[in-house]
Formats: sequence, C-alpha cells, structure tokens
Amino acid sequence: MNLLKNNLLNTYKRLPVSFERGEGVWLFDQFGNKYLDGLSGVAVNTLGHNHPSIVSAISEQASKLIHVSNYYHIQEQCLLAKKITSISALSSVFFCNSGCEANEAAIKIARLHGNKNHIEAPSIIVMDSAFHGRTMATLSATGSRRAQAGFEPLMSGFIRVPYDDIDAIKKIASQKNNVSAILVEPIQGEGGINIPQDLGGYLSSLREICDDNNWLLMLDEVQCGIGRTGEWFAFQHSKIKPDVMTLAKGLGSGIPIGACVVNDKAGNLMQPGKHGSTFGGNPLACIVGLTTLDVMKKDDLLSNAILQGDIIVSRLKAIVGEHKGIKSIRYKGLMIGVELAMPCVDLIEIALQNKLLINVTADNVIRLLPSLIINEKESTLLATRLGDLILNFLEKNDK
Ligand SMILES: *Cc1c(COP(=O)(O)O)cnc(C)c1O
Repeated sequence: MNLLKNNLLNTYKRLPVSFERGEGVWLFDQFGNKYLDGLSGVAVNTLGHNHPSIVSAISEQASKLIHVSNYYHIQEQCLLAKKITSISALSSVFFCNSGCEANEAAIKIARLHGNKNHIEAPSIIVMDSAFHGRTMATLSATGSRRAQAGFEPLMSGFIRVPYDDIDAIKKIASQKNNVSAILVEPIQGEGGINIPQDLGGYLSSLREICDDNNWLLMLDEVQCGIGRTGEWFAFQHSKIKPDVMTLAKGLGSGIPIGACVVNDKAGNLMQPGKHGSTFGGNPLACIVGLTTLDVMKKDDLLSNAILQGDIIVSRLKAIVGEHKGIKSIRYKGLMIGVELAMPCVDLIEIALQNKLLINVTADNVIRLLPSLIINEKESTLLATRLGDLILNFLEKNDK
C-alpha cells in the first residue's frame, strides 16, 4: 500500500514508517525492523507497548461491558475517581476522552467561577508558548501563533503573560482586572520542555496570587502528569495544590481518556445539565486507567522515572554536554528536552533511519518522553544512539 496516497485529511506530515506491533519500549514495522521508542506515543504509553496487565484488563472488561452512558452509575468510573482523588488529594473528577476536552471543562469551570462572582467577561491568564489543545477554546488558550493562524476569530477571554514570570501576573492583579483563573502547565511540553527556574517556588507564588485574588489555579498536567516527572503529578514537586488539574495522555495507556480533577471550591460550581460527555468515563477506559495507576504503584514507576531520567541525561551529557551546539539539556524525570543552537527537525527522520523514535518541538528542542517502564540498559542505549546522532548532526551542520 502506498502510504503517501490515502484518504486522510491532511493534518499530519507523517514519517515514512508504519508499525505492526510493539513490546515494551520497542516497536516493529511490517518488515520486522525494530525501533527504540523514545516518545511512547507522545507520553501516552505509560507502561510501554503490549503490557500484559493492560492487555488482560482490556479483554476482561470488553467481555463484560464497554459502554453504557453516563445516565447510569458506572462502578469503574467511581473506582478510578477514588484512586485519582486519593493520589492527588483533590475531591472529584469529570471524565472525558482527551486533553483538550479536559481543558475545555476547566475553562468552563473558570467561567462559572467568574460569573458567580459577578465578574464581567471573566478571563483566564495563560502563558507564552503554552499548549492546551486544538479545539477553539483550547487553541485560543494555546500560546502558538503558528497553531492559531487561519482560525480567527479566536475565543476571547484569555490574557497572555510570559511563562515563569510572577511579576507579570502580579502586575495584572494590581490593576483593575476581570481575571477568574490562571491556566498553566507546571512544565511546558509542546512549548519545548520548559521548566520554571524554581518549579516549587513558581507554583507556590501562583497559589498565593490566586488565593489573594479569589482566582482558580488550574494546572494542565496532560503531559507532565501521571508519573512522568517522578511524582504522580508535577505539582507534587511543590507544597501547594491546584483548584483544578487536567489529565489525559498517560492515564489510559493508549485507550482515550481525559480527566478534569477539582477541589470542592471548583467542584461545587458544577450541577447536572451543565457539562457532559457521551463516551467520557466508560467502563473500558476507566478500568484501563485504574490498571495503569495500579501497575505504576506496584512496580514503583515513579522512582523509575527519576532513576532512568538521570541515566539518560548523564549519558547524553557525557557524549554531547560540552559541545557548543548544545544550548541546554532540561529534564524532570522522563520529560527530557535537549535544546540545540540550531533548528533540528531533520533529526527526527535521521533518528528514524537509525531505528530511534524521537520528537523535535519548538524547532530546536529534541523531546524524549519514553515509557516509564524503560530499564537501565534501554535508557543507556537510547542516550547513546541519540548522543551519537546529535554529534554527527552538529558536525555536519557546523558552518
Ligand atoms: C497533548 C496536550 C494537550 C491536548 O491533548 P489532546 O488529547 O491532544 O487533546 C493539552 N495540554 C497539554 C499540556 C498537552 O501536552
């Protein structure tokens, strides 16, 4: 089959490969070639490919019940909500099917909060180079002109400030404003693996400003949540809790699921009839979510994320660390960015030819988001393969 000629809407520039099966951190194409997966479906395949617990959870649940609708009590949904609220110390969960939908729910809650407090045209503070999704509201919240171009008019009600800049937010708070919430990724993913200088301090300052002004603190943990940074949620690297947290990617091990997790203050704003989802929280997706979290706990994958992140980065630094073509290597657990001094999108295909799957974001940041089950041998191989490719690339492009 000619993969280039197909009937798909032209939304992705796809790489010339098609995978047939996977095993742990490995993917196999139809010719039997074996690839080391450094991206895990963009932070989705938390437990790698073909994990036996996920496979049996899916087949057991499918043989009982896949979907019934939210007109009925769904036991599996209650179990997953109980688990998520217990590990996050938040109160209740709305289930949907993706990250943008989880953020849509958060944005609607911020509107409810503002309107309840008689704020005219309530607005949400969002960040430069943020990514919150592709629906109209989340696209409007996203800080990328490239993603937004052509889709005007964007939705109003967002005020943009630089990331990791508390003073910019304090300035807004000190003036007459119509803000009802702050929406921020604790660590920016699509924006280039941007980590605040002092993550705990940044989140604490945001919490304080929100408390002083009766704004909701809403954290988009769609990419950095679910163990990726070595804690269940990235906000747990700080001492604070958000009012609202959104999840998706890694929660369902590839079965679509999103979640908007709230405390009582935010949760009390919702009533029957105000929000919903046909597919959201169906028994199959919830059982897979539960299984994912259970295996993470049983196999101590939070510690593994920290351990393997350190292994990958120290190996990478040993190979390329001193090169002037490297601007910085940033990471928290298994959320890793290698910023080059030049655009490096071409590296994606070069890596593919070398049987390594990586991503490049923000034009010059190599992004690694491997499965949390990766082991020391695989981490070392990943870093060695990538390090050599980066060295080669830098030397070839050194003018
Ligand atoms: C991927 C992502 C989203 C969007 O999730 P979808 O499931 O693609 O809608 C939102 N926020 C962040 C931080 C993301 O990384």
